[in-house]
Amino acid sequence: MLDGMMAAYKNLLRIYMGVPDLSAGQEYTLTDGQHHYLKNVMRAETGASLRVFNGRNGEWLAEIKELSKKKVIVSLIQKIAEQKNAPDIVVLASPVKKENFDIMVEKSCELGAAVFQPVICDHTIVHRANQERLQAIAVEAAEQSERTDVMQVAEIAPLKDILAGWDNKRRIVFCQERAAAPAIASVLAGGGVNLPLAVLIGPEGGFSAAEMEWLTQMPQIVPVSLGGRILRAETALIAALSCIQSMVGDWPDAG
Ligand code: SAM
Repeated sequence: MLDGMMAAYKNLLRIYMGVPDLSAGQEYTLTDGQHHYLKNVMRAETGASLRVFNGRNGEWLAEIKELSKKKVIVSLIQKIAEQKNAPDIVVLASPVKKENFDIMVEKSCELGAAVFQPVICDHTIVHRANQERLQAIAVEAAEQSERTDVMQVAEIAPLKDILAGWDNKRRIVFCQERAAAPAIASVLAGGGVNLPLAVLIGPEGGFSAAEMEWLTQMPQIVPVSLGGRILRAETALIAALSCIQSMVGDWPDAG
């Protein structure tokens, strides 16, 4: 019922508010960045309606109560959509070139991953990832894609450390280039690989022979192919997430 109300508000701006709880009648001061965006970019005015969410309490209709040179205060009116969380899909991806890695974070959030974990592999060139900046990209993607939750971006860590003591129940869809792995669609159609799961994408240089060896020893690892062409890491991630979402994720729930 609530979600049916969304159509009436679909053209309103959506803003993420990093506060623990949302409730009717409450007033909140938005961040400096949101103030700049609403005032100078969107030229919003006092009294304008917008949608807000905090990643926990669904989506709310709100009104701009005050918009001055210094701050913007919004007041919450009513809940217009229930909270819906993304399927439990973790992305394990090596950093690649900055712009391309930004795309990987943005598209993972749009495509409905729950967590994005940057990992350092043997052939990873860039060993840094600015967690705060990447989290901000995920927030923007959640605002734009109408998620009510926000994909969590974790601090970068070596792949070996992340996989040490890995949960037995979480299979890892291991995207393996140039290998005789079965096609991702046939693996997912087999019924043995379900949520919760992770998807692993390597760096520009691919996985090392040593990594291939220890990864394929892990019982949680499920090697898959995305076809005979060698894809850029960002293309591979988008392709893999699309297959996962359509076959074992929440795409079948749409509509
Ligand atoms: N330099 C590597 C090579 O030439 O073999 C290619 C690495 S590719 C740019 C980056 C990552 O995307 C790979 O490590 C893999 O995870 C994924 N990938 C690319 N093409 C793939 C394919 N056809 N099947 C499965 N994974 C693929």
